[in-house]
Amino acid sequence: MPKSNPNKSYLPTKLCLVCNRPFTWRKKWAKNWEEVKYCSDKCRNSKPQSPKGELK
Ligand SMILES: [Zn+2]
Repeated sequence: MPKSNPNKSYLPTKLCLVCNRPFTWRKKWAKNWEEVKYCSDKCRNSKPQSPKGELK
């Protein structure tokens, strides 16, 4: 039987483009969750550099 957590609302998750680990929605990303691609500032700052510039 699957567990249910009625007291916890579902939070969306994404995969970090740098470390490929799933990370969970955080309140600080409420405004720009659609644009969040990295789990942390550390990963965001260590994103792989492409010779043709950054992907938008
Ligand atoms: Zn990461």
